[in-house]
Amino acid sequence: MSWTGDPIWLADVLRDAGLKVIEQEGWRDRGHGDFADLRGVLCHHTAGGTTDDWRIVQYGRPDLEGPLAQLVLERDGTFRVIAAGVCWHAGRGSWPGWPTNNANYYVIGIEAVSRGDGTDWTPVQSDAYKRGCAAILRRIGRNADDCVAHREYSSEGKIDPAGIDMDAFRRDVQAFIDGEDAPMSAAEVTRIQDFITAFCGPISSDVKDIREQLCGQGQRDTGDFAGWSQLGNRTVVDALAEVLTRLEKLEK
Ligand SMILES: [Zn+2]
Repeated sequence: MSWTGDPIWLADVLRDAGLKVIEQEGWRDRGHGDFADLRGVLCHHTAGGTTDDWRIVQYGRPDLEGPLAQLVLERDGTFRVIAAGVCWHAGRGSWPGWPTNNANYYVIGIEAVSRGDGTDWTPVQSDAYKRGCAAILRRIGRNADDCVAHREYSSEGKIDPAGIDMDAFRRDVQAFIDGEDAPMSAAEVTRIQDFITAFCGPISSDVKDIREQLCGQGQRDTGDFAGWSQLGNRTVVDALAEVLTRLEKLEK
């Protein structure tokens, strides 16, 4: 479903995707006028990296009046909804299907909190970034081709969001849009690992148990396998081999 006008559904759509959302007071009425039709998502980093980064996005800088993006993505994966109206974030640039030098009226901006050197993304933040883009694109009837880095769009030398491989990012976003083979979130992986560990015990411990049963008692951490005393210090395999050999001799 395409959408024309302000995305007053932003908070609901992100929450429905399982994401944490903070709605800034007055976000539905904040912005520099109304959207035309929505065509995509433009991804940024804040180049700050603190829990206060959202303030600049909402209130602006001395040289540029806020709001500067509709959404801020915090380092803990929470989306802070700043504005439903048009924001100043795209600048000059182009992307197939978007109006050249005029993307602000057609795309939603996400400012993700980061120092901007490409090394401080948290796993939960990276995961939420893709899920959030996918939820918005699905809502406006677009696919991952319209999930774009500011550096890809900009003709003004922008580098953000630094450290994110956009081809891989778009692959994951498309998987979330399709709801097929969507990559598991870091939280989901941790949950499954915790379940397995609680159910079976640590994996490394299991391997040691099996090795000990086959090769002899008390060898778990020494790495040498002296066998079982009741098998004449043979391992289980050596003892079985000996039994077979003796059976064969008896048959002859
Ligand atoms: Zn940017």
